[in-house]
Amino acid sequence: MLTNSLVELDRQHLIHPVSSFQDHEARGVRVLTSAKGARVTDAEGRELIDGFAGLWCVNAGYGQETVIEAATEQMRRLPYATGYFDLGAEAPIKLAAALAERAPGDLNHVYFTLGGSDAVDSTIRFVRYYWHAKGQPERDQFISVENGYHGSSSLGAGLTALSAFHDGFGLPYPWQHKISSHYVYRNPVGTDPQAIIDASVAELRAKIEAIGADKVAAFYVEPIQGSGGVLVPPRGWIKAMRDVCTEYGVLFIADEVITGFGRTGPLFACSEEGIVPDLMTAAKGLTSGYVPMGAVFMSDHVYQTLSDGAGAKAIGHGFTYSGHPVSAAVGLEVLALYEGGLLENGEKMGARLMAGLNGLMDHPLVGDVRGRGMLAAVELVTDKEAKTPLPASVQPATRLFDRAWEHGLIVRSFAQGIFGYAPPLCCTEEEIDQIVERTRKVLDLTL
Ligand code: PLP
Repeated sequence: MLTNSLVELDRQHLIHPVSSFQDHEARGVRVLTSAKGARVTDAEGRELIDGFAGLWCVNAGYGQETVIEAATEQMRRLPYATGYFDLGAEAPIKLAAALAERAPGDLNHVYFTLGGSDAVDSTIRFVRYYWHAKGQPERDQFISVENGYHGSSSLGAGLTALSAFHDGFGLPYPWQHKISSHYVYRNPVGTDPQAIIDASVAELRAKIEAIGADKVAAFYVEPIQGSGGVLVPPRGWIKAMRDVCTEYGVLFIADEVITGFGRTGPLFACSEEGIVPDLMTAAKGLTSGYVPMGAVFMSDHVYQTLSDGAGAKAIGHGFTYSGHPVSAAVGLEVLALYEGGLLENGEKMGARLMAGLNGLMDHPLVGDVRGRGMLAAVELVTDKEAKTPLPASVQPATRLFDRAWEHGLIVRSFAQGIFGYAPPLCCTEEEIDQIVERTRKVLDLTL
């Protein structure tokens, strides 16, 4: 009864993010009521393994008591403190320091946001300010990568390269350019890693030259493209792109909103790639989804340029909830959990997940398995040789999601017929094996 009335209220009043209003009305909402570890329970009492950690964010798993205590304690003591007027609070200061210590290279300065989209938006504004401060305001063109996702704020959504975020919104803006994705499984130059790297380097160079080398402000990448279908670049691809940016004096921005905080193994994927971006964004695992928070990491030279450029003037960019003390207290506790064993467990479970998913390659519908750490994808095809995608009539995004749900598994089901996996790092071996076994059951379907 309770569920029925909630479903009706939801239909009438709650607008869901990134959804077809019509489909949603027809299908109705599935109400989740509780969660523990890597498992969630719905209003009908069904227990499911959350193979997607909410929305690739609950990296530490649900129901972590120390996190709950830290948030409660912070709410009781000081629920809010602004960062405006030179005010501050202990938790955001300590979190900024802890993050700076762990971030790659000289990303020593941290600006807190409420999530990933406004972190990306903040970088766009900081980049523009940077070039003004440098006396090169004509550097106002931005480049990102096809299949990339950089949030849905009104500026960042144009760096995102997924049509649903552009069509009908008048995006991208003319100053937002794209180069092709590295998409190894479906790359026109083939699957050879070096050939893909060479092609991307040549394309980025050509794009910069075409726009005008003195007009390009910044280049954005995800270390692994998430919402585009979990596309893992060849090792060395990011470093090669970084080198091109350095050569042309273009700022290099790494968007680690998904890849940060143990998702691919280490705290930050850039560290593993041996590169230091000029700016870096993070969110999701930063607070493991318990409360909203995002962050912009700024390198010494960007920070100094902004500081010099502004002089005694205020840099007019800020949010009421920048550096929220409760989110920061959660961030500190979550970081302690990552370093207290979760990163290590995630690495082990990630290897097990990849081995298990690779075992699905014998299935007639599985064309590709890819991933790194606890971030993976299975791409479905109707013909392995021709790599024929699932027909739209299969409605992969909803039908396959529903089938997984029936089998007690939550995975991301992309419209192209790709399953995305991002389980909490606290998963047990049994849970990882169940994710794989249940996926196989989902795949045993008649098209
Ligand atoms: N950047 C990347 C790489 C993301 O994956 C996302 C969200 O999935 C965002 C930015 C936007 O983050 P948010 O949804 O917290 O605004």
